[in-house]
Amino acid sequence: MDLPRQIFMGGVVGAGGAGFPTHKKLVKNADLLIVNAAECEPLLCSDKFVMSRFANEIIGALTALKSEMGFKRVVIGTKQKYGAEIKTLRAAISASGADIELFLTKSFYPVGDEQVLIYEITGKTVPPGGIPIALGIVVINVTTALNIYDAIQGKSVTHRYVTVTGEVVNPCVVRAPIGASVSACVEAAGGAALKDFMIVMGGPMMGRQYGKSQLDSLVITKTDGGIIILPDSHCLPAFHAKPLEHIMNQARSVCIQCSYCTDQCPRFLIGHPLHPNRVMRSTATNTNPEMLAEALLCSECGICELHACPMRLSPRQVNIHIKGLLRKNGVKPVFKTNPDQTSMRDYRKIAQSRLIARLDLTQYPTRLNGCVSCEPASVRIPLRQGIGRNSIPAVSVGDIVKAGDVIGRVEFEDVGSVIHASVSGIVTAADANVITIEREESAL
Ligand code: SF4
Ligand code: SF4
Repeated sequence: MDLPRQIFMGGVVGAGGAGFPTHKKLVKNADLLIVNAAECEPLLCSDKFVMSRFANEIIGALTALKSEMGFKRVVIGTKQKYGAEIKTLRAAISASGADIELFLTKSFYPVGDEQVLIYEITGKTVPPGGIPIALGIVVINVTTALNIYDAIQGKSVTHRYVTVTGEVVNPCVVRAPIGASVSACVEAAGGAALKDFMIVMGGPMMGRQYGKSQLDSLVITKTDGGIIILPDSHCLPAFHAKPLEHIMNQARSVCIQCSYCTDQCPRFLIGHPLHPNRVMRSTATNTNPEMLAEALLCSECGICELHACPMRLSPRQVNIHIKGLLRKNGVKPVFKTNPDQTSMRDYRKIAQSRLIARLDLTQYPTRLNGCVSCEPASVRIPLRQGIGRNSIPAVSVGDIVKAGDVIGRVEFEDVGSVIHASVSGIVTAADANVITIEREESAL
């Protein structure tokens, strides 16, 4: 079986982003494979943990990718402050004799944005609205590399290393089966340290926010790397609770056109024609479709609303709203890069430590207390875990499954991923969207 098919059979999707099926991303004989090991969301340490624990496996996967897919160069991009992890990776590279480079960056946000990391490593700008392969580059996350290694060994993606931090008793990395409830992960980290709290799935900048009542209904998927428990009174939930109408009214009436949002926008600073201040102005005047179309270039990193804007406005939310309208209407503009914009970039990088202070997260640890396993009595496994179509259920209620068995199928040509049982047990519910498995080792 060739490597892309092994990766497909292992159910590997991008672990650090939207969950694009990895086998679809791998282009033969591309110039450069970049491994994104620059996790930049404040408080998250999952990729750092994976690097420290699985350096040999990561290098094994990259060696296979280089030789079988013909990448001319392979570079791991990580933060220079990860001293111990860098040492471990260097030892693994040296032991394998592999021709793999390390690129060390400063710790700023959002260095883990793949287009920002590409600019850091190569000095090149991905064409606005385009994808890295336009420059002959493929980018994968470091946890994806570990999953590729497992796929080569015939294993599938059944677990995820998740940072569980904030208001929990024992902030740590939790090894959770796919489909474990967030509640089980929080319990594995000693439980919530507060009675009333909210949940962030992902990082504080780009993560999704939920109320405490959703603790049991939320489950871990292949793309979830973080759970942060925060007090109800924290500034983040208040910020995100604003209704869209209020956000749009504020954009029209309160924006002072200081343009700080544009000055600090990471996509503007790599040369993309994205000026959030101009998008804000256009929502007020509604006269310039070209300016509104710039919203399509927004990566939703959150710098403009959570760091830049002195008026506490939400250019990101405005961009998301406008993007939705433009896509609905099939608008596909052509953009041009402006290299002149990049000259101030080095002076405008936002240190992660400064961001942590700005977000009022300094009381939470950036180093975690090791790794614990989460062993829930049941899992609810979504049949869609990333970009693409739902997989088709391959099991029915009453079936006995072993961890690693296929429970949802897609075709190799599809954009989607094969889904596997993450624990052994009995299927107790199955529909087009979710398979529930009750753990029952003795029945096997
Ligand atoms: S930073 Fe805020 S006030 Fe200034 S231009 Fe941007 S949205 Fe308007
Ligand atoms: S969220 Fe704001 S800062 Fe980030 S890319 Fe979009 S416009 Fe730029």
